[in-house]
Amino acid sequence: MSFVGAITEKAVAGFADSYGRAPDVVWSAPGRVNLIGEHTDYNEGLVLPFAISQRTVAAAARRPGDVITVRSAAFEGAVSARLADIAPGALAGWAAYPLGVAWALSQNPDLPAPGQEAGVELFIDSDVPVGSGLSSSAALEIAVAGALDDLWGLGASGNEVIDAGHRAENVVVGAPTGIMDQFAVLRGEEGCAVFLDCRTEVDEIVPLGLGPASLELILIDTGQRHANAAGGYADRRAACERAARLLGVPSLRYITVDKLARAGELLDEVTFRRARHVVTENARVEEAVAALRAGNPAAVGPLMTASHASMRDDFAITTTALDLAAETAVRAGALGARMTGGGFGGSVIALIPEGAYPAVGQSVRDAFAAAALSAPAIQPVTPSPGARREYPTVPLPPRPRPSRGAFQASSRSSSTSSAGRLARIMWLVSISR
Ligand code: ADP
Ligand code: MG
Repeated sequence: MSFVGAITEKAVAGFADSYGRAPDVVWSAPGRVNLIGEHTDYNEGLVLPFAISQRTVAAAARRPGDVITVRSAAFEGAVSARLADIAPGALAGWAAYPLGVAWALSQNPDLPAPGQEAGVELFIDSDVPVGSGLSSSAALEIAVAGALDDLWGLGASGNEVIDAGHRAENVVVGAPTGIMDQFAVLRGEEGCAVFLDCRTEVDEIVPLGLGPASLELILIDTGQRHANAAGGYADRRAACERAARLLGVPSLRYITVDKLARAGELLDEVTFRRARHVVTENARVEEAVAALRAGNPAAVGPLMTASHASMRDDFAITTTALDLAAETAVRAGALGARMTGGGFGGSVIALIPEGAYPAVGQSVRDAFAAAALSAPAIQPVTPSPGARREYPTVPLPPRPRPSRGAFQASSRSSSTSSAGRLARIMWLVSISR
């Protein structure tokens, strides 16, 4: 039995233990790693993540009434809320993620309203490590969104599912994160990366071609979780916004490499360095995608190494351990290596020749021991399929969508606004006639 099957079975068994029956639907969604394109997402830039083999599974069933109960194998106890009581700021802790997804789906006026019979019981199990930069949060959101979409008969599009996860995290949990994770987790495909333009929110599946090129990817987790990661993130984000403002553009996406010299005349030294990272990183993502499209994944290696240098020297978000991991991996034969994730700790992703995993891993472990750093956790990472329904194989047909007319709202911009509520009321009126 595969790993994916095992975690799915655990979730189904956990559901049965908790609720005394079998689930109606089971959805799973993977974690993700970003191959290249760091701190570009909130600058309307380019990213190239891929889904990994570890997954979060949501087993769920309808129940009478409008109470939603969530449980997770990772946490004690159950959290219950009436759908109508879920609101930004009303929830703390892990349950804000799944209940926030329920809220976000129910608030989208383009979708059928879940109505008075929105009651659901949910059980979560996962082998995505929590809080280590593999986006256990998006895996949780998207698995839950898939399950609720089925149970409520919403017929949500992929973009509406992505939007529900993103809004749950930003509005209900209150974490100001970009749209990359939800895209990677939903759209990922085996052996492929997801090339996402964060300005247009258009994505493209790009085959990595690692097998034919006899290459593989490993992840080196330094184990460091920097206490100031959130402050550092906010500071870098502010620097990027300042740079864009001073350069008179809506975001740094509008600055290309050839305009950097002029930008250097307009910005102070530190702000310029922050901007230069973002501008050159976008260019590196484009080059990486071009190399992959040309069937030359080995060419991505040097771009990864250049990305790391840019994060170390210009964006200043690496640590001694991250630098040591990346440099040692390259010295031990990796084609390229870079810090992945927000920075100030976390992991390095390295592109290595097939079979080099033991040797590269040992070199990194030795280097960490020599530097008196605690032992890193090193694992191969396999680009894997995105979110999917595990059960049943044939979904129930969705209910009709609300008629949209004057209240047509983009799901990305719709909110708890009265327009949203009104649109739903209009829809209820239209079907009760
Ligand atoms: P990351 O996404 O990098 O793993 P985040 O801080 O964004 O880290 O999200 C982690 C949070 O998501 C956890 O603290 C928890 O609230 C929630 N979470 C993730 N996975 C699970 C799970 N299997 N069960 C319950 N909550 C989870
Ligand atoms: Mg997260």
